[in-house]
Amino acid sequence: MKTIGLIGGMSWESTAEYYRIINEEVQRKLGGLHSAKCLLYSVDFSEIEQMQATGEWEQAGRLLGEAARSLEKAGADFIVICTNTMHKVINLIEERISIPVLHILDATAIQIEKAGIRKIGLLGTKYTLEQDFYISRLIANNLEVIVPEAKEREMINKIIFEELCLGIIEPASKDYYKGVIQKLVEDGAEGIILGCTEIGLLIKPHEVIVPLFDTSEIHAKEAVTFALEK
Ligand code: GLU
Repeated sequence: MKTIGLIGGMSWESTAEYYRIINEEVQRKLGGLHSAKCLLYSVDFSEIEQMQATGEWEQAGRLLGEAARSLEKAGADFIVICTNTMHKVINLIEERISIPVLHILDATAIQIEKAGIRKIGLLGTKYTLEQDFYISRLIANNLEVIVPEAKEREMINKIIFEELCLGIIEPASKDYYKGVIQKLVEDGAEGIILGCTEIGLLIKPHEVIVPLFDTSEIHAKEAVTFALEK
């Protein structure tokens, strides 16, 4: 089994999910008392959030790159960045290490394709929904991507940072997200990407009428597949 190097803490609420899913998946696949070999470098999210808000992406990339380097030195065989948004700086992380980084969208795109879906709705932070780094990778996978309108993006972002990243689950916010999803479906979305690792804490597959692609769950399971590959 390879050792998984997790860069987490963005937020720790979703990193805890990664840790749970990764261990459950190893247990499911190997049985007995098996659990995952993994290392976690958990950052102070407040520092990262400020760099995001002020556009200091280079600095954030350097910080996460150093985290990845520490994980490599400690024995990680590959890296998993436990947030969609910070995939914006994946190049700055990759250039500092010699082990691979498992991109969150690679396995996600494969699952969407397997489901026979071409037009997909996307939810995530305003950075993920409004900047090019994320959507361009989906388009490169032959997907047509639709996002909520501006004022909805703002509210979705606010709920992520002011509630979900703090472990707060509000029924009103769940209803808000369901309303936004419904509109995306009316606009032709055949499925929805939960493109922020905390959204799966709020919205569950049985609550909506189209397939949900929960990036944290897909990414965590993909990490296990990769860790157990020969
Ligand atoms: N975990 C979130 C994501 O997947 C948001 C936190 C962040 O900005 O890194 O994008």
